[in-house]
Amino acid sequence: MARIDDLPPLREVIARHGLSARKSLGQNFLLDLNLTAKIARAAGDLTQADVLEIGPGPGGLTRGLLASGARHVVAVEKDARCLPALHEIAEAAPGRLTVIEGDALSVDLAGHLTPPVKIAANLPYNIGTELLVRWLTPPDWPPFWDSLTLMFQREVAERIVARPGEKHWGRLAILAQWRCEARIVLDLPPQAFTPPPKVSSSVVHLTALPAPRYPADPAILSRVVAAGFNQRRKMLRASLRGIAPDIEDHLAEAGIDPTDRAERIDLDRFCALARSLAR
Ligand code: SAM
Repeated sequence: MARIDDLPPLREVIARHGLSARKSLGQNFLLDLNLTAKIARAAGDLTQADVLEIGPGPGGLTRGLLASGARHVVAVEKDARCLPALHEIAEAAPGRLTVIEGDALSVDLAGHLTPPVKIAANLPYNIGTELLVRWLTPPDWPPFWDSLTLMFQREVAERIVARPGEKHWGRLAILAQWRCEARIVLDLPPQAFTPPPKVSSSVVHLTALPAPRYPADPAILSRVVAAGFNQRRKMLRASLRGIAPDIEDHLAEAGIDPTDRAERIDLDRFCALARSLAR
């Protein structure tokens, strides 16, 4: 039985199992094990954690996570063609890798993960944002995970870590930064992947804060932010008119100039506005 470090190169695994990349499944594989080890390191100390990996594919990142000492990896893969390759990895790390065949958007993970849980993935781009938004909006906070270490197209990564006043400041940045610390930890050119995607990518690391930075009702905050950024060129008194007839009073109470635009308003002010509306 091979150990993780003795498994064959990923190119060989892909050839042997006929894993030609499918665009419909967002398959852009990482074949450089130094790189997957680096991404695993960015996820922090995994030795006491269960790691949820979405879309392991041929298993490059899975190997990195196991080699860096993850207590247990639960990997959810939709493409059944990848399962034999993943089972070879499971054999090389007895008892430490559980492979679940299924769609990450609908699979039931209850019973598979023991806290603390960290999520790490080179996400299929077509469902990356949807998964992130789900992880960021659980019914209760703190969520079931401690941290997320995720690959995104560079532009999406910039929308997650943007600061107020910057071009990409918007709903995703507010959603992420209200209850998490978010930063880009690695930038990757298209050539890092096989096949190369059209755009560059970045790994974003998000750590869940024990509580939100500023108090606010999540539903009200989400409504205000959505309305403000749906019409980001408009003054807030116009873009938020549909939220409340007396919106100008609430803006004043939150210390926001009603002629300002959403893109210039920071998290603190948005939360103050949500609190005023809740009263
Ligand atoms: N982790 C591998 C790597 O880094 O080389 C593969 C990453 S590739 C960008 C995305 C992977 O997600 C593919 O293996 C694909 O089959 C899988 N995938 C796509 N849609 C999925 C879904 N809805 N649920 C689970 N896995 C999915």
